Amino acid sequence: MDIRLLASNVFDDHRCYVCGHLFELGHVAAAYERDADWIGYICDACVALGEQAVRLSLYKKAIWLEAEAARLREDVENSIQVKISACVEHMREYMRRERDRDARAARAEEEIEAYLERVERAWSVKK
Ligand SMILES: [Zn+2]
Repeated sequence: MDIRLLASNVFDDHRCYVCGHLFELGHVAAAYERDADWIGYICDACVALGEQAVRLSLYKKAIWLEAEAARLREDVENSIQVKISACVEHMREYMRRERDRDARAARAEEEIEAYLERVERAWSVKK
């Protein structure tokens, strides 16, 4: 693992690879690299905390990722169900009431119906 400092003229928001917070890249970007491959940017706050703090944050992230990987494996092994919940029915009812008053509501209702039909077809949804 290396942290390389780069001159930057791109002032976009990025997510810190270490702490996960969004931050704006400044004139100097701290890039997290592994075997010379760019992995992500590191925010100024994490850089300021120093090596031990960054190590601890990455260690905590590794533990979280291992747990998330276990949850994902469990999800993949079980069936995935899409449930069209009651709130969607409430949304449909609301759109029906609104459509006479607002043309956008009618278009939104069509989009919602088309979306739900795609989901139902793709996932064999049980209502
Ligand atoms: Zn950070």
